[in-house]
Amino acid sequence: MLKDPFLRAHRYLSSNRFISLAGDITPISVRDQSLRGYLAVRRCIDGELIEKSKQDPSPLVIVGAGVAGATAAIVASKHGIPVILYERYSAAFKTMADVRTRSLDYRQYEWPRAGWRRMHDDEGANLPFTFTQHKASTIVGSWEGVLKKEISDSKTISGRGIIDFQTDSEIYLDEEQLSSGSDHDSVSYCVGENGTPHEAQIILWCVGFGVEKNTITVNKDTVYTSSKYWSNDKYDLIYKNQGKSAKVLITGGGDGSLQDFLRIATGSETAKDLYQRLNINGFIEPALRAELLSIEMDAQRAFRWSADEKKVRKYHDAPILQYLMKRYVEWCRAILNDQIPGSKSLREVLRTILAPSPRVFIASHKPYFDFCYPLNRFLATLICEYVAHYSDGVWNDAKIANPFIACAEIVGVNPKDPPPDYNPANLGSCEEYWHQVDFEDTIGKWPLATRDYPLPTREHSIFKPIIVRHGIKTEKLKCFRHASKTDMIQARKRHLLPGVAFESMVIS
Ligand SMILES: Cc1cc2nc3c(=O)[nH]c(=O)nc-3n(C[C@H](O)[C@H](O)[C@H](O)COP(=O)(O)OP(=O)(O)OC[C@H]3O[C@@H](n4cnc5c(N)ncnc54)[C@H](O)[C@@H]3O)c2cc1C
Repeated sequence: MLKDPFLRAHRYLSSNRFISLAGDITPISVRDQSLRGYLAVRRCIDGELIEKSKQDPSPLVIVGAGVAGATAAIVASKHGIPVILYERYSAAFKTMADVRTRSLDYRQYEWPRAGWRRMHDDEGANLPFTFTQHKASTIVGSWEGVLKKEISDSKTISGRGIIDFQTDSEIYLDEEQLSSGSDHDSVSYCVGENGTPHEAQIILWCVGFGVEKNTITVNKDTVYTSSKYWSNDKYDLIYKNQGKSAKVLITGGGDGSLQDFLRIATGSETAKDLYQRLNINGFIEPALRAELLSIEMDAQRAFRWSADEKKVRKYHDAPILQYLMKRYVEWCRAILNDQIPGSKSLREVLRTILAPSPRVFIASHKPYFDFCYPLNRFLATLICEYVAHYSDGVWNDAKIANPFIACAEIVGVNPKDPPPDYNPANLGSCEEYWHQVDFEDTIGKWPLATRDYPLPTREHSIFKPIIVRHGIKTEKLKCFRHASKTDMIQARKRHLLPGVAFESMVIS
């Protein structure tokens, strides 16, 4: 039995020697992931799960050279533990390394905590990497330098454990062994699907959060794939060059979608930059801050406890998230309609920002913004409410009542006046050409939802570009022997509460 609660919470399947920092945990920043990497190693050392004197099997195998895996490798090395760090790509931090168009801000997750504004750079000073808000490629560039130096130091400074960094090495696991009990002395893995099995005292699984769903499927055909969230997209140029001539549709109501909405509609690099431009802090009174924190916490619990159970989600999470959205809307209206001093100047700033900007719409099959960072939810709701009710028609020519097109599932994407060489399967088609979109009304699928705005008519549902942000899908564990599926499912449902508890959580 693992005594340490941190390790117990991160144990995956039934093995005490397989610790996973991956999976569908949210919201979690790069700094949080770095801290988890640090803690996992420290707790394994404190719990004497790693014997550094014993080199066979390898003391510590770390899979995945993102911020979590790289931190863990450096911390272990500094404690004299030799490490093999495997990465499936040719270099560390590959997800974000080349992204020069998008900023990474580890702090936005903290809002609306009162201390959020006081937080400053280099907060992670005890961790090997520094954390700042900057373009992703700039931040990751500095991390690459740190990792390189630590790898070199690990080979030259006495007392350090050597970091053996193996790139282009995808790791496959023995899921049968991982599911067959806790008291193994070691755990096995293969480099490559058909590689020979190796053994490790501990495997730290730092493979990230999964694959982005960024395709629209109509009648089982994938009709459009949009640029990945972490890629060098051209969305900055929509704000800079196209202005009001663009009419953007973002599908999906989670963080990726809200982040792009704010970026394209306001030209701000991050949610925090926009917050500062709006000079909004005076409006965030303690009462609002306290309520938002409390209802966000309820939503977080609901989301965790019902993970992966579609039916439960609809009846359990949905009412809580609907309530959350309703309160954000009410607060945003109060902020915009003179109930709070300063509303007028806020409306003026919003008008200056939005009048010349591209018109951007978010369509979701749900009645609410999905589970996301509160700051994104707050700013996107504020803009949607402003455009719908207080803007004197800044985006009226789009003929869509509210930028948030709720309970609307895309069931058709049709090119408008397509050029002869048009190919809907080509990446980017929806970014280059105008498309008419067909929405299906999903309001009947949500027990407590009401329709506050009509769906846009076909005539007005013509967009360019269309951006698909349908969330992240957790990648299944890979294995080289036959998998025990039941155990995997149980592991993912560990936070599921008994039915009776669900009932009491629902807000009517
Ligand atoms: C859309 C989106 C927006 C985000 N925005 C922010 C933000 O603004 N601020 C912030 O702080 N955080 C943000 N995050 C969260 C942050 O990106 C993650 O928490 C963090 O990058 C995860 O780090 P990691 O090291 O766990 O995983 P990753 O950075 O994903 O690294 C995992 C590594 O494992 C490798 N790997 C995977 N499988 C294998 C295998 N079988 N064998 C070998 N290697 C493997 C991968 O190639 C990858 O290099 C965002 C995340 C997403 C998805």
